[in-house]
Amino acid sequence: MIPKSHPRYESLLLRDKIVKASKDGYLADSAMIAHGRGEAFDYLIGERTTYPAKRAMYAGVATMLLSKNPVISVNGNTTALAIDEIIKFAKTVNAKIEINLFYRTDKRVKLISELYKNHGYLNILGSLDDEIKYLNEIKNLRATASKNGIYSADTILIPLEDGDRAEILKKSGKNIITIDLNPLSRTSKMSNISIMDNIVRAIPFMTKIAKDLKTQDKKVLIEMINDFDNKDNLKESLEQIKLNN
Ligand code: ATP
Repeated sequence: MIPKSHPRYESLLLRDKIVKASKDGYLADSAMIAHGRGEAFDYLIGERTTYPAKRAMYAGVATMLLSKNPVISVNGNTTALAIDEIIKFAKTVNAKIEINLFYRTDKRVKLISELYKNHGYLNILGSLDDEIKYLNEIKNLRATASKNGIYSADTILIPLEDGDRAEILKKSGKNIITIDLNPLSRTSKMSNISIMDNIVRAIPFMTKIAKDLKTQDKKVLIEMINDFDNKDNLKESLEQIKLNN
């Protein structure tokens, strides 16, 4: 039991979730390494949501609200850290949720599908009984996508995504939004909108933003998206590390 007074309390709680998920068998072997990389960047920005991250969240949520078929892609880490928050956000922006694993195995897909069902979300895509297609005709497990989900989506939110997979998604011509604590990752660089924040802070904040933006005129949302420049915003995101230290 971690005492609440511990200076690294929040961070250690997240570590515990990842360790538990690993024991439960639905994380890839490299999941802890990916988490550790994220943790290091979060440490450098002071474990807070920065201004550039907020700006990217507004543009990202506006994009999702204006999309015809927005999909949230989830993997083991995302599920371990923020399953209920993801379900709530999906409902708020009317997006589908799809299991999208870099190292796709039936066992992990089954375990993650069951988790979403146990948490009250019954329509998970990318499950074992879903119709799976290949993006850009690449016959490779990395290019799999649900026919009614990522395959036909116009916008995909890909938190904590690997660069190879992000590249395949990007090449398929979709709008890509990522949540990634590393502003230098390939995924951050190739996405249309990159949110440099911890998923556990970003998703609840994005749900709040969505509730607000849903009451706004479409023109305001379009302006928000047009004013956003990912390259500039990533540069500012990186500067946050220096500003915090
Ligand atoms: P790329 O291939 O895109 O250059 P990578 O090889 O680091 O990056 P992965 O390790 O597969 O890709 O992806 C994990 C990414 O998710 C990392 O960039 C890491 O910083 C980020 N990450 C890990 N945990 C979190 C978290 N809790 N919130 C947000 N981002 C996170």
